[in-house]
Amino acid sequence: MLRLYDTRRRAILPFRPRGRVVTLYVCGVTPYDTTHLGHARTYLTFDVLVRLLEARGRTVRYAQNVTDIDESILQRAERDGVPWDELGKSEEKKFLEDMARLGWRKPDVMPHATREIRQMQDMILRLLDRGAAYCVDGSVYFSVAKAPRYGELSRLSPAKMRAILATQDDAALDERRRRAPLDFALWRGVPNAPTWPSPWGRGRPGWHIECSAMALHHLGETVDIHGGGADLIYPHHENEVAQSEACTGRCPAVGWWMHAGLVRLDMAKMSKSDGNMVFVRDALTRASPEALRFYLLDSPYRRPFDHEEPRLARAAVRQAELARHLGRPKRTDALGRDAATGKVLGALEADLNVPRAIGLLERASRSADDRVCASLRVVAHRVLGVI
Ligand SMILES: [Zn+2]
Repeated sequence: MLRLYDTRRRAILPFRPRGRVVTLYVCGVTPYDTTHLGHARTYLTFDVLVRLLEARGRTVRYAQNVTDIDESILQRAERDGVPWDELGKSEEKKFLEDMARLGWRKPDVMPHATREIRQMQDMILRLLDRGAAYCVDGSVYFSVAKAPRYGELSRLSPAKMRAILATQDDAALDERRRRAPLDFALWRGVPNAPTWPSPWGRGRPGWHIECSAMALHHLGETVDIHGGGADLIYPHHENEVAQSEACTGRCPAVGWWMHAGLVRLDMAKMSKSDGNMVFVRDALTRASPEALRFYLLDSPYRRPFDHEEPRLARAAVRQAELARHLGRPKRTDALGRDAATGKVLGALEADLNVPRAIGLLERASRSADDRVCASLRVVAHRVLGVI
């Protein structure tokens, strides 16, 4: 039985999807810089989750967006003197190449924000209809006072929320005349291009409405699992769930909220805005894709991950040894019902305890007979992708 930690309920609970198909929405990249280890770790965590569900016979519908319009893309494009849409397209291509090299199980659908403006506007109209949103000149804001469960996901005080908001790229664009400081933009009337026509005049969608509209469009009113990096809990996910539930009346809109811990370098978050990044394509000059997966997955996924080159080198040695003991994956390999396989799968089903699963694989692989080895290869190759 798969058990997963839900950020909203702050507990590990038996995973019970609503229907036959498990729906998963993961917040994707804002393509303005190349894939770093933080992106890779987050997406590989969900990659293992999807592979595990599929190995256990579940059908998964996995959606991951591309935020191809965003204030940070516009700022970078202006700095570099390139058109914003070309910057987005070329960076998205690089991201897909990097993730393909890492053996990523690609999402079933990758919606782009710029192609779903109508869905966002439909949602904003419904929120206005329901009295959960209001207009200020050519902009529309969500009224957090209309969301009784607001703050339940992040459990932050309003003061702490305001402090985080002040650090966001788009905070400077917020209308001073909005009703409350935590109210957030659904639509921004802005004079500078790119803008799209709307019932409120030309403008751009707010960041949070993009994901709500795309999840609704591609997965329906509720999703079983919604994931992303831990830095998205507030404001992005708190705002997303508030507007989704206010729009559809379906509550909870998300069964399980899953958040991957951030990757740090010298104790600081690895981030595009801070420029302290280690890129996947550089790391792949020093380690094979399987070794890099081994390294990034061999730590509890909810905790922060401190990148250290000597640890990457040690992971590569352990990965090579595991691959040598297990042998090459074969088409005929199948999951067995042996005790060793059961223990490894049990670790993965305990809220994706990959470090424990890898440790068990290493131990079992040293003395397993051919039949057990074939079964362990299925977990190591098809689920974890580390051989
Ligand atoms: Zn999102």
